[in-house]
Amino acid sequence: MYVSGQGFHFGIDLAARCGTPVVAIGAGTVVEVDNLAHGAGPHNLMIDHPNGYASFYGHLLERPGLQPGQTVQAGQEVALSGDPDGTCTSRPHLHLEIRDAPSHRHAFNPIPLTDVDWNRIALARGAPLQFEQDLAAPQTWQTLYDQPDVTFGGELLNAYKSAWPPEN
Ligand SMILES: [Zn+2]
Repeated sequence: MYVSGQGFHFGIDLAARCGTPVVAIGAGTVVEVDNLAHGAGPHNLMIDHPNGYASFYGHLLERPGLQPGQTVQAGQEVALSGDPDGTCTSRPHLHLEIRDAPSHRHAFNPIPLTDVDWNRIALARGAPLQFEQDLAAPQTWQTLYDQPDVTFGGELLNAYKSAWPPEN
């Protein structure tokens, strides 16, 4: 459970071997390098795009060789993927978020915003019961395509009265 993000993961995890080149999903300006207040260590990167969105790349292998204020092009290599545990053997993946720019206080489900075959590349696929279920509304937020936008610091969205799996 991700308390800061109203109980949700608010991003997408993409399986990738350590050292896989990460490219900017759109043209923009680097605004933060290794701001660990955003989580997703050991290294991360925030890029603001002119359309009001920001992209955030987490669990990077090393500090990106970019400075705040630098502009990047869509598809430009900006980082190398890593592993949140720093081992490259435990759970190497890229954590990708789409937030609002410039506040970065809201995170949006990346899936409807991007033209990508997420079912093939995301770590969480269509297996049943991947997401906590509200037994009062069992179809809600059960797929990658149906995940709520979150505001950091907002109240929990999934404090369900009757949840599956049950809390212990
Ligand atoms: Zn993640």
